[in-house]
Amino acid sequence: MELNLAKRMSRLGTENAFVVLAEVAKLKEEGRDIINFGVGEPDFNTPENIKDAGKKAINDNMTHYNPPAGVRDFRREVAKYISKTRNINVEMEEVAITPGLKSMIFFCINALAESGDEVIYPNPGYPIYESVINYVGAKAVPLPLLESKNFSFDIGDLKKAVTEKTKMIVLNSPQNPTGGVLSQNDLEAIAEIATRNDIWVLSDEIYSRIVYDSEFTSIASIDGMKERTMILDGFSKIYAMTGWRLGYGVMRKDLAKQIIRLVTNCDSCTATFTQIAGIEAYRGSQDETFKMVKEFKERRDIIIDGLNKIDGIKCSLPKGAFYAFPNVTKACRNLGLKDSRELQRLLLHKGDTAVLPRTSFGVRNEGETEEYIRLSYATSKENIAEGLRRIRSVIEKQV
Ligand code: PMP
Repeated sequence: MELNLAKRMSRLGTENAFVVLAEVAKLKEEGRDIINFGVGEPDFNTPENIKDAGKKAINDNMTHYNPPAGVRDFRREVAKYISKTRNINVEMEEVAITPGLKSMIFFCINALAESGDEVIYPNPGYPIYESVINYVGAKAVPLPLLESKNFSFDIGDLKKAVTEKTKMIVLNSPQNPTGGVLSQNDLEAIAEIATRNDIWVLSDEIYSRIVYDSEFTSIASIDGMKERTMILDGFSKIYAMTGWRLGYGVMRKDLAKQIIRLVTNCDSCTATFTQIAGIEAYRGSQDETFKMVKEFKERRDIIIDGLNKIDGIKCSLPKGAFYAFPNVTKACRNLGLKDSRELQRLLLHKGDTAVLPRTSFGVRNEGETEEYIRLSYATSKENIAEGLRRIRSVIEKQV
């Protein structure tokens, strides 16, 4: 029998980090010792108090279904947390829980965008936005993030990208893969454009607490923006809970109700004991998260310094998240490589070091000529030092 997939499946993209993760696992099985800068997850474990809360919840038989919108106490806790951190007033009915923030991206784009709509998304960017926008049949409109602007965008480019068909703007600050953080001025410019043109804003704030040199601001904190903003956040990064699958969206009540219909159709609900652990994450001590961010900052300084010492690599200092996004154009040219994808392969197969190429983070922008790779520095300082040594020997040896 022919597979005969639905046409929309051909429009669905992927997240290459998982492809590289599988490749690294295979190479490790073959006995290779790989330094992995590919994967975007903390190398820390979930703090003990959160694990204990999860274990206790299982022992207390919190193993049944809960409402599709989420456990009420947890939704209240999220509403409190977002009210405090974003300086807005959020009620429980504005909160919907999902198994990871990623599901919420899928649901929000599904609920609002369709064929004939345009959705603007950051590029290079987390690949799932582009994938889901295409999947639902809307037009994906890339907003170039520029190295010269510390990976923010040019306001002229944003104005050019907006048309009467623009339904939504996707933001992600601090950003994956560049580590860029949008300034208050950037956010105000976007808010003004969104309001004037009646556009929704999906704000992926999963790295909101991993900022180093500045304060995090949400676009939802700007006057008048709450009603058109979907704030997406979660527990994967800041509480090292990637495998628990816990995220959420905060949005106006009428939209939240529609998102919850999608949750009912897709998941029924998010695991009950996971949400109980989430309550502890927000209510308990935050010491572990502070320690983690402090460690990330030290690692950032080491990796950026090390990268800049390699001939053919140039890397600006990222202000948030745990990614370095160096310009490797010269290294590619020196090595006679066509693009960042070829460099990624060379580093993996000749240098036993996994990174991700620019090509994993969206289409090439018009006129974009430079090459980049992404390195996640959510790995130990020893691994960072060894990985830098390997990258240097691959890149400089062959010059
Ligand atoms: N958004 C961004 C920008 C991310 O980098 C990630 C994880 N790599 C996610 C969303 C997904 O988070 P979760 O594990 O909560 O689904």
